[in-house]
Amino acid sequence: MSTLPATTDVVIVGAGPTGLALACILAAKRVSFVLIDRLAEGANTSRAAVVHARTLEAPGSGSITDSPIATQRILLAGDAAHVHSPAGGQGMNTGIQDAVALGHTLTAVLGGQAHESQLDEYERTRRPIADRVVALTDRMTRMATLRNRRSRTIRNAMIRMIGRIPAVRRWVATELAGLRNR
Ligand SMILES: Cc1cc2nc3c(=O)[nH]c(=O)nc-3n(C[C@H](O)[C@H](O)[C@H](O)COP(=O)(O)OP(=O)(O)OC[C@H]3O[C@@H](n4cnc5c(N)ncnc54)[C@H](O)[C@@H]3O)c2cc1C
Repeated sequence: MSTLPATTDVVIVGAGPTGLALACILAAKRVSFVLIDRLAEGANTSRAAVVHARTLEAPGSGSITDSPIATQRILLAGDAAHVHSPAGGQGMNTGIQDAVALGHTLTAVLGGQAHESQLDEYERTRRPIADRVVALTDRMTRMATLRNRRSRTIRNAMIRMIGRIPAVRRWVATELAGLRNR
């Protein structure tokens, strides 16, 4: 016998960090949702090790009938929207920030405080951030996996040199912590 409710406002597919963060936001706002995952149980471990500053800040800012599967609108978040290299520890953080943005928008639309077209705003605001993260992690991965010995020597010397410049260190820290996305 199915334990799914007959109706719900939101179906979240995937109980990874992104799905769980979205579920927390919706639960706090008392929006009805169903969270489903293909796995019966969580692994109780995480690949992701670091929660960045912007992710910690984000949560503080601020009916489907007949079958929950009869989804009217599909919105992607987290790795489902932007899977990329783990360099820089960005994936889970970007996914949780997606979930917070989406949770606030869904709550406003379902509560009648915003028009449904506001859901397009989610893509408009999150896509440039995801594009930047994908480009940054791609560059970092290509730099980290250089095969040519001479290129690696030049890379290491450059990193040592520019790593001493406070403005560069600040730029890298701000970018990786997601604080540029405030
Ligand atoms: C080695 C490594 C280290 C990493 N380190 C970091 C780090 O330090 N910091 C960081 O921010 N990120 C890191 N990441 C990336 C991070 O793990 C992912 O970005 C993050 O897990 C994405 O979360 P998610 O919820 O979007 O997707 P997932 O964690 O992939 O969760 C998706 C969930 O959906 C379920 N699912 C999939 N398909 C279906 C389906 N068809 N139906 C139902 N359920 C489904 C899965 O079972 C899973 O539970 C690392 C990744 C790797 C590989």
